[in-house]
Amino acid sequence: MLTMKLELDDGSRIAVIGGGPAGAMFSYFLLTFANRMDMDLKVDIYEPRDFALIGPPGCNMCGGIVSESLIQMLATEGIRLPETVIQRGIDSYVLHTDESSVRINTPLAEQRIATVHRGGGPRDADRLDWGGLDGYLLDLAESIGANVIHDRVSAIERSDTNMIVSTRRNSEEYDLAVGATGANSTAWKLYEKIAEGELHPELTRAYITEVKLGRDKVDEMFGSSLHIFLLNIPNLDFAAIVPKGDYATVALLGGITEDVLDQFFSSESVRNVFPGIENIGEGACHCSPRMNTGAAPVAFADRFVMVGDSGVSRLNKDGIGAAYRTAKAAALTAAFRGISAADFEKGFSPTYDTLANDNGYGKFMFGFVHKARRMKPLMRGIIGMTSREQKSDDLQKKMSMALWDLFTGSAPYRDVFYRMINPSFALRLGYESAKSIIFKPSAKQSE
Ligand SMILES: Cc1cc2nc3c(=O)[nH]c(=O)nc-3n(C[C@H](O)[C@H](O)[C@H](O)COP(=O)(O)OP(=O)(O)OC[C@H]3O[C@@H](n4cnc5c(N)ncnc54)[C@H](O)[C@@H]3O)c2cc1C
Repeated sequence: MLTMKLELDDGSRIAVIGGGPAGAMFSYFLLTFANRMDMDLKVDIYEPRDFALIGPPGCNMCGGIVSESLIQMLATEGIRLPETVIQRGIDSYVLHTDESSVRINTPLAEQRIATVHRGGGPRDADRLDWGGLDGYLLDLAESIGANVIHDRVSAIERSDTNMIVSTRRNSEEYDLAVGATGANSTAWKLYEKIAEGELHPELTRAYITEVKLGRDKVDEMFGSSLHIFLLNIPNLDFAAIVPKGDYATVALLGGITEDVLDQFFSSESVRNVFPGIENIGEGACHCSPRMNTGAAPVAFADRFVMVGDSGVSRLNKDGIGAAYRTAKAAALTAAFRGISAADFEKGFSPTYDTLANDNGYGKFMFGFVHKARRMKPLMRGIIGMTSREQKSDDLQKKMSMALWDLFTGSAPYRDVFYRMINPSFALRLGYESAKSIIFKPSAKQSE
């Protein structure tokens, strides 16, 4: 039932379109808040995928790194990812450039990252418990009362008093519709009929392949380290090899084409870390998912809000963390403020805008990284400065922290940007770069 003030009330019905992390977490938070207020809400989550299935039908295509900031935030919500979902704990990463590499240990002992699968497992996997992260979160939402409808939404319309959400089989009326369909869906076309303005975010194509090696080989080759590649390949923002249980996930971010893939898999740096990869290339499971690189200009209307990748994400990192933030902000607004466009403007926009604005700093920094990769002395300076910090207990770990935060999602891009333009940071980097011109490294510098 909806009052004139556009608020949720006892008996209100909510349609969540998409049961990935954003949709599942929105439903979980909304129902948690409603329980606290003794309000009885009916939440239907529309999700065509069965996350327990192995291969593409059960998978939401992702590198699978869960940032430590998200692990901590989930823990404060009482959500602890079970060991069967966490495929590996990560406590360091190795940064590779075209000519050298350096290991960066977690800057603080308690800072750890987890790696997960996003469905029932890659095509050639044994079935995973819970259906990976997405299955676990969806089960969590179901456990506190959400109703999961395994169907695809094909239309959304507005009536005078409600939203009408339809699948091929059925139509239902709701007080609130939540768009949580991610970046790999054409659902924006459905949303454009109920909200005024441009709802489509900027997107680019990425690439993922899952290589089955077996747990022992993954341990031996990668241990508990992520491998990040900053190579001088046009359009490649960066690439990562992410160790999981039996698999190494190779993810390339940026505008990825066949040519970028060829250059990446045949590069010496990659072959040194992953001998044989040039022959493997694509694992049994690979995909070219879209990723969100710029926020949709409009993200809400009366009785409608978009959460997760369908609206805004974090550029090149921590998309699941962005899904958490937008889902929680939308649920808080709907539960405690109201569901009009004006309510979402006040309660939801600040979170949305903070993520969108921070990506502006991210774009600037990746622009800088693209240029820096062509300047060998600067790349050597970055590696030299990091390497020195890693070997010393006394030096402040300025570059190590900045790089850790840049790629892992632990801190906003804005914070990293201001740390990097600090004069003492710039002087130190200038000194290390100048030194590398005078004393050219004779062989491949390494960890
Ligand atoms: C190459 C790559 C690597 C990435 N690596 C990471 C990483 O390591 N860590 C990280 O945090 N993030 C990563 N991301 C980003 C992360 O995958 C997304 O930010 C995250 O999945 C967003 O969650 P979501 O719920 O908004 O969307 P999704 O996970 O895409 O979920 C959307 C859901 O909506 C459903 N849906 C679609 N259309 C309809 C419809 N019409 N009706 C009903 N349901 C529908 C889909 O089936 C899907 O389950 C990566 C992305 C890419 C492309």
